[in-house]
Amino acid sequence: MSQPASKAVPPAPAANFLRTLIERDIASGTLQSRRFGGSPGDAAHHAAGPLDPAKIRTRFPPEPNGYLHVGHAKSICLNFGLARDHGGICHLRFDDTNPEKEEQEYVDAIREAVQWLGFDWTVDGTSHLYFASDYFDFMYRAAEALVSDGLAYVDEQTAEQMRANRGDFGSPGTDSPFRSRTPTENLTRLRQMKAGDLADGAAVLRARIDMASPNINLRDPALYRIKRATHHNTGDTWCIYPMYTYAHPIEDALEGITHSFCTLEFEDQRPFYDWLLGHLARLGLLAEPLPRQYEFGRLNLTYIVTSKRKLRALVEEGIVSGWDDPRMPTLFGMRRRGYTPAAIRAMADGTGASKTNIWLDYSVLDGCLRADLEGQAPRAMAVLAPLKLRLTNWAECFAGGAGHIEPCQAPAHPQRPELGLRRFGLSDTVWIEADDFAQVPPKGFFRLFPGNKVRLKYGVVVECTGCTLDAEGRVTEVQATVVPDTKSGTPGADAVKVKGTITWVSAHDAVPATVRLYDRLFTQAQPEAEGRDFREVLNPNSLVTVQAWLEPSLAGAATASHWQFERHGYFVTDLKDHRADAPVFNRITPLKDGWGG
Ligand code: ATP
Ligand code: MG
Repeated sequence: MSQPASKAVPPAPAANFLRTLIERDIASGTLQSRRFGGSPGDAAHHAAGPLDPAKIRTRFPPEPNGYLHVGHAKSICLNFGLARDHGGICHLRFDDTNPEKEEQEYVDAIREAVQWLGFDWTVDGTSHLYFASDYFDFMYRAAEALVSDGLAYVDEQTAEQMRANRGDFGSPGTDSPFRSRTPTENLTRLRQMKAGDLADGAAVLRARIDMASPNINLRDPALYRIKRATHHNTGDTWCIYPMYTYAHPIEDALEGITHSFCTLEFEDQRPFYDWLLGHLARLGLLAEPLPRQYEFGRLNLTYIVTSKRKLRALVEEGIVSGWDDPRMPTLFGMRRRGYTPAAIRAMADGTGASKTNIWLDYSVLDGCLRADLEGQAPRAMAVLAPLKLRLTNWAECFAGGAGHIEPCQAPAHPQRPELGLRRFGLSDTVWIEADDFAQVPPKGFFRLFPGNKVRLKYGVVVECTGCTLDAEGRVTEVQATVVPDTKSGTPGADAVKVKGTITWVSAHDAVPATVRLYDRLFTQAQPEAEGRDFREVLNPNSLVTVQAWLEPSLAGAATASHWQFERHGYFVTDLKDHRADAPVFNRITPLKDGWGG
């Protein structure tokens, strides 16, 4: 978690050791004999089915207790992407074995986010969307089988005693006095647990493995706990619930998963994963070959936090406007910010998979976004910090006099003529960016200052003659004269050479809009480095809202449509607040990265 941020853009396709091992497994032929019963099930169910048409099966197993974030996107792209690339199928499985924290709202949001990213769990008409809670019956049956085989026991020590007897890294654990109960006694007690005869927390079912194992996860891990809680799927049917470490391997096996990919912190769980599935297969409950677990490094992005707890704090403390605030690294926040599914996938695929957790610089994501939108997004001019420019010789320059509107045009996209032309007018009053004018030009400033000429892009060359100041000395208006015969696209227009070209919008046809200039939420690449509270490094300028003037081609822009504002960057119409008659645009990213590593 604490490696230094890397600025490097990852090579594509990046090294991915999971790909290598899938190819090895497919080539070895060990997966070919697998049968699949058409749906998840036990050994008998799969044995009765045909050979599995999927060469491999992977799964994305979110717990429906929050919104997905960019780290989950990594896992989604990996699991769905590897299955797609190898003739396999990826299941979307809700790991909903914990009754207390899970909600339908999150189930719906996760489905929507996975689809938005561009992945589908329905293959050849079969939906591979599963709920771990549908396997509760099997999990209980497996627990009884383990008990009967002497591999699990009901422990009635207090939580305190259990903790004390677990030992630690340096010292072995101590056997529970309940460890030597007979299978018959344990079975009776387990059934009493299930029937609700015992109070919450009064007993747990534990695997009987090895209290002296150097791997603490093998010191008789808990399999079931008593908890009276209503479950979103199974209601009050159960008062005992399986532990994650017990449930997850079983879920994989019932679904015929071949490759179970998880993040590195589960590495120490793998011996238990294999122990559990090995015994349940030997007892005839689970089909072989069994799934194998492989661990890969987490993806962390600089300038964000991803843990659900911290994201919730940002929402609940009002630091952001909600889970879909465009500064949030949730997939819904990123969608609203304007990040495209293709950009997120490119970022995820570009980081490959390795055995170490990685910190990716946020600018890599922005680079992927620019690469995706550069060839697609129509161009437009927008003035975000408007200053009025008056062309004082307008009436003399055009036959139409003061009210003349000079028609101008520009390609909607410089490399895509098929997208056609944008048309807009030029009048005697235009909006320009305030910082395109200087009363006294700094060194190397080629834009407007008294005596200097610039081109109004797609329009005419103008020469600055002066400005008007208010009582506080602020510039309220700039004046210039039109240089005759310099209209872009007309013969001889380039005869007058200028060093600067500025963007503008004519006051007569400008569209008013709210533009939200988003920036990073934190000022530090690793907000929580050195034990810091992320609240100490909030970027006070992560959202600046401006009233802007837009080119008329942006009137009626569709919701969630992407644009490049010339010189400014990439923008999207806000998913929630944009209206055709009251446009709201979000800045996704400027044209160039302004942040260091
Ligand atoms: P969080 O810690 O943010 O709450 P989680 O890991 O508890 O996330 P789950 O719903 O359990 O959330 O995660 C679903 C899957 O996404 C898991 O397989 C998990 O390993 C994977 N995942 C979560 N975060 C990342 C990440 N940063 N990089 C890669 N995979 C991730
Ligand atoms: Mg989790």
